[in-house]
Amino acid sequence: MIPFSPPRIDQKILDAVCDTLRSGWITTGPKTRLFEEKLTEFSGNAATLCVNSATAGLEIILHWFGLQEGDEVIVPAYTYCSTANVVVHCGAKVVFVDSGEDFLISLKAIEKAITPRTKVIMPVDLAGFPCDYDEILSLVKRKEIRALFQPRNDRQNQLGRIMVLSDSAHSLGAWYKAKRAGSLTDVTVFSFHAVKNLTTAEGGAVCLNLPEPFDNNQICNGLRIKSLHGQTKDALSKMQIGSWRYDIIEPGFKCNMTDIQSAMGLVELERYDNDMLAKRKHIFQEYDKVFSTYGWAQLPVYETEEKKSSYHVYLLRIKGITEEQRDRIIRKIFDREVAVNVHFVPLPMMTYYKNAGYRMEDYPVAYDNYSREITLPVYYDLSDPMIKEVTDAVIAAVKSVIS
Ligand SMILES: *Cc1c(COP(=O)(O)O)cnc(C)c1O
Repeated sequence: MIPFSPPRIDQKILDAVCDTLRSGWITTGPKTRLFEEKLTEFSGNAATLCVNSATAGLEIILHWFGLQEGDEVIVPAYTYCSTANVVVHCGAKVVFVDSGEDFLISLKAIEKAITPRTKVIMPVDLAGFPCDYDEILSLVKRKEIRALFQPRNDRQNQLGRIMVLSDSAHSLGAWYKAKRAGSLTDVTVFSFHAVKNLTTAEGGAVCLNLPEPFDNNQICNGLRIKSLHGQTKDALSKMQIGSWRYDIIEPGFKCNMTDIQSAMGLVELERYDNDMLAKRKHIFQEYDKVFSTYGWAQLPVYETEEKKSSYHVYLLRIKGITEEQRDRIIRKIFDREVAVNVHFVPLPMMTYYKNAGYRMEDYPVAYDNYSREITLPVYYDLSDPMIKEVTDAVIAAVKSVIS
């Protein structure tokens, strides 16, 4: 059986985790601080806070920006549930919009969806390919769009426009116009969940890059407190002699990252560019080589003059098939002991969002992308002979269903 996305667990990771366990300090501490510094250096943003998931990272940012009932957040219909669920948690309204043929949020659809209640746009770097951020940022900075914005607190007032919060769960290390994901928008959130490019088992990072006059370091310190109950001292500083007393300055969240997780992250980040991304790119290119010879295959775009993917997942589409045919193809691939997936079932098709009144017919491009899509395995330990097993299984399955 070829699994879909096992993590890379080698001796280096085992040693790093064991060293942390033996050190006696296992929760948030020096390793997490170091991991945050290395991530900031890597992505080129202003300040970074590690948390226990991307979902928690997105949520504390919406909370920091003061999202509440009556506000609207623009989210692509084609994403994982986290992007929209966190908006619901704040009591704000999710405004789904359609995507383009490249799987990314459509600029035109964003423009049409903006109202005086819009506070945040959450583009998703699907498959690791960055969205068109220059265009999205110029849109929110446009005079008439700024004029619509109705701030409800000091932070919103200070920004003076819609915030761009990118769900970059897939795109650590991706490039856009010579800048890395993490430094492309006001705030970027990465995921280090077990299936992501860089994993700490569970985890995420909030990369701050807010414009002047915001002080990103100061905001980061505030978010650190928010991620730990609103408590003025973390566990490590409370341990210092005579330093037991602390205060609670707000009813915060509990979503800090542990040093065990950061130990894994430090190992992975060190070898991310030259080892992990190089390997993933190789797998993408091998898939391209095989499928470009078949007329039924629609290959994903993952590199242009301006953008370079982080090669997170390979989104193959089959031309001219129905959703039902796609499902049959997937069953036949599984019959050949190869695990594939679909990224993603659009959220308006999910029971909660369907019951909330969203209709999939309103997002035709997202539906078309979804209905013909099969995600192929991409991970560090996928060898060339295994790649051949995958491509053979896909080709046989497609031929048996469409001919
Ligand atoms: C994985 C994923 C998330 C959530 O990441 P967690 O770290 O598990 O919270 C959010 N958005 C997208 C697009 C994802 O794929």
